[in-house]
Amino acid sequence: MSTPLTFPVDADVPRRTAEEREAILANPGFGKHFTDHMATATWTDGEGWHDGRVQAYGPITLMPSAAVLHYAQEIFEGLKAYRHEDGSVWSFRPEANAARMARSAARLTLPSLTEEEFVDSLRALVAVDVDWVPAHDAGEASLYLRPFMYASEAFLGVRPAKEVTYSVIASPAGPYFSGGLNPVSLWISTQYARAGEGGTGAAKCGGNYASSLAGQLEGIEHGCDQAVFLDSSTHTYIEELGGMNLFFVTRDNRLLTPELTGTILEGVTRASFLELSKELGLTPEERRIPIEEWKDGAASGEITEVFACGTAAVVTPVGELRWDGGSCDARRDGAVGEVTRTIRERLLDIQYGRAEDTHGWLTRL
Ligand code: PMP
Repeated sequence: MSTPLTFPVDADVPRRTAEEREAILANPGFGKHFTDHMATATWTDGEGWHDGRVQAYGPITLMPSAAVLHYAQEIFEGLKAYRHEDGSVWSFRPEANAARMARSAARLTLPSLTEEEFVDSLRALVAVDVDWVPAHDAGEASLYLRPFMYASEAFLGVRPAKEVTYSVIASPAGPYFSGGLNPVSLWISTQYARAGEGGTGAAKCGGNYASSLAGQLEGIEHGCDQAVFLDSSTHTYIEELGGMNLFFVTRDNRLLTPELTGTILEGVTRASFLELSKELGLTPEERRIPIEEWKDGAASGEITEVFACGTAAVVTPVGELRWDGGSCDARRDGAVGEVTRTIRERLLDIQYGRAEDTHGWLTRL
């Protein structure tokens, strides 16, 4: 049994000046800028996790033969640190991300971290880079945390790597929608699938995103913002977007989302909305949803709102749905729906400490 994994901070890591930091925080965008540090740890077969540390953010050394570069044995997570009005910094359901990372690790035959080790790694990084967490009044800005794990062993054999690296980097993120809640248009991808039965759709592994790009491009070529993926075996049922889960609001106040079939990523936002729905007077419903139900429901008015959700944007309203030969739009007069707005606000209020955390979803970092 190895000793517990901890993340001591390297001394003398160069930091950007307060001025440089403030210039970035004034307009951080998303995923473009990174904090001064990163957390890392190594796992070796037989030894387990060791050499946890918080070091300078910077290039990593990897042999050209590192397995991840060839066989994509890699997983990641995404969550945010939010600053509350009193200056304290919180994360939202990090235990859910820890559990999902452990599930992804099992699917990709990578080693797992305990929930405690996972949260410790976030805490160690945020503690040393706390000045990079945007101010409470910075309009729904946050510090995006990106834990990831990859096969760093230099070996060209197809088998689970015997050396694995874990890391956490952090990136200040501005408000996703600076000019109001912009709806996205979606293209039904029939040429490509995101995931298949028995595949890795339920895992957050890099390969899923690489394979979704052609579908995204197909959507863009058809004048849409993103693609919606259907189940790969029958092309009948709605799955999700490349990086967000989907929800439908019905005329009789049901909140509908595709059930988890093993080919959909279980979003933390999705799970939270299913729980919040009852408080908002909605009846949650998880089941297989035929794409025809969306088309028909939008036309008949049975479906009143459609939105996508995920950590980065929280909620993205969906406007037009297009396919080869047709289109539909559930919105009436193009407005963002009431439920879309309300559920988004409800979650943000909890995340930013403006509402009581009755679910126990916040963890102080
Ligand atoms: N589906 C996919 C494919 C995703 O990449 C994400 C983002 N992690 C989501 C759904 C939403 O998950 P979450 O709410 O945990 O961010």
